[in-house]
Amino acid sequence: MTSVEKVKTLSEVASFDMENCASSTFLPLGHSKFPVYRASTPRGSCKLFKTLLTNKCRMDCRYCVNSKCALRRQPHKYEPGELARTFHFFYKKRMVEALFLSSSIEEPEQNMEEMLEEVRILREEMRFRGYIHLKVLPGSTRDQVHRAALYADRLSINIETISPSHLSELSSTKDMKNDILMRQAWIRGEARKRAGVSHTTQLIVGALGESDREVFGCAISEYAHMEVRRVYYSPFSPILGTPMEGDSPAGKWRGHRLYQLDCLYRDYNFSRDEIDLAFRNDFLPNEDPKVTIARSRLAKPQEINGLGKEELIRIPGVGPRTAEKIASHKKRITSMLQLHRLGVNLPKALPFIKIDGSYQERLTTFACA
Ligand code: SF4
Repeated sequence: MTSVEKVKTLSEVASFDMENCASSTFLPLGHSKFPVYRASTPRGSCKLFKTLLTNKCRMDCRYCVNSKCALRRQPHKYEPGELARTFHFFYKKRMVEALFLSSSIEEPEQNMEEMLEEVRILREEMRFRGYIHLKVLPGSTRDQVHRAALYADRLSINIETISPSHLSELSSTKDMKNDILMRQAWIRGEARKRAGVSHTTQLIVGALGESDREVFGCAISEYAHMEVRRVYYSPFSPILGTPMEGDSPAGKWRGHRLYQLDCLYRDYNFSRDEIDLAFRNDFLPNEDPKVTIARSRLAKPQEINGLGKEELIRIPGVGPRTAEKIASHKKRITSMLQLHRLGVNLPKALPFIKIDGSYQERLTTFACA
């Protein structure tokens, strides 16, 4: 039987990867508890079991709790087949629905092979058809990446930071070009061949004083050249027992603002020039970047009637669906109540619009309730 301590430790340390998790709960296991995440995946929202195969690592990433230069913790590792059995047990009990499997690195090729065997057992022997996100380890082979794409819905390898020189400051054992970018190109090749496989990555924000502009420039390059589906932003937070424990954390809000900017770029099709307007001295202010951009772009309030969808979605408080509804609205819009019913966030939108010729900067005469 799997030790409770092993499940708990290996699932807790996996929390540092930022798969799109909205919240977490702790489920009982013996006299202990382990985390399960509510994650948004291409197959919809599901209960995600995140775990490492092992937390033993020979790499020296200075920010990481599992690094060989961090204060040693009790090492754990799943035995062959044990992770597949453990996950399947939780799945049958309806405690979890999806798997996120990563690993620290003792021997990269061997560890990748061990992870592949667990997902092979799940898919081929246990007939598990749910969502699997599999990390590709630096050092894995081209053939392993190919086989990973046969089993997983999502493959990822973390680029971690904005440049090879930044990575060499964070780790003397990882090389961005050979260990990460080469494998990203292999994953891209697999994702092109298989429509059901997506490709993501993660960036640590602010570990070495890099600006938001630099971080987002790297993200744009990942979207353009590596064709990643999502970049996850992980604001740097120093961990006790690591060489960086005394360094300053990056505010969590930086991650939130970068996600908002990312959404404007990917979902709203904001241009590079528009994205540039979000920065102040190369950093994002702690406000919605759509508001910052609108203040620079819109010299005066826009008459809401007659605007097309592309112009409407550039107004704060107007999302793509609401823009669609306003653009196809048959009658002239003459009141805040009409806009509210169409889904506009009035407090955000009012400073930037006129309604039927009149401008009201604040919501003083209208109750949304
Ligand atoms: S490779 Fe680096 S980031 Fe990954 S577990 Fe090892 S020390 Fe941590």
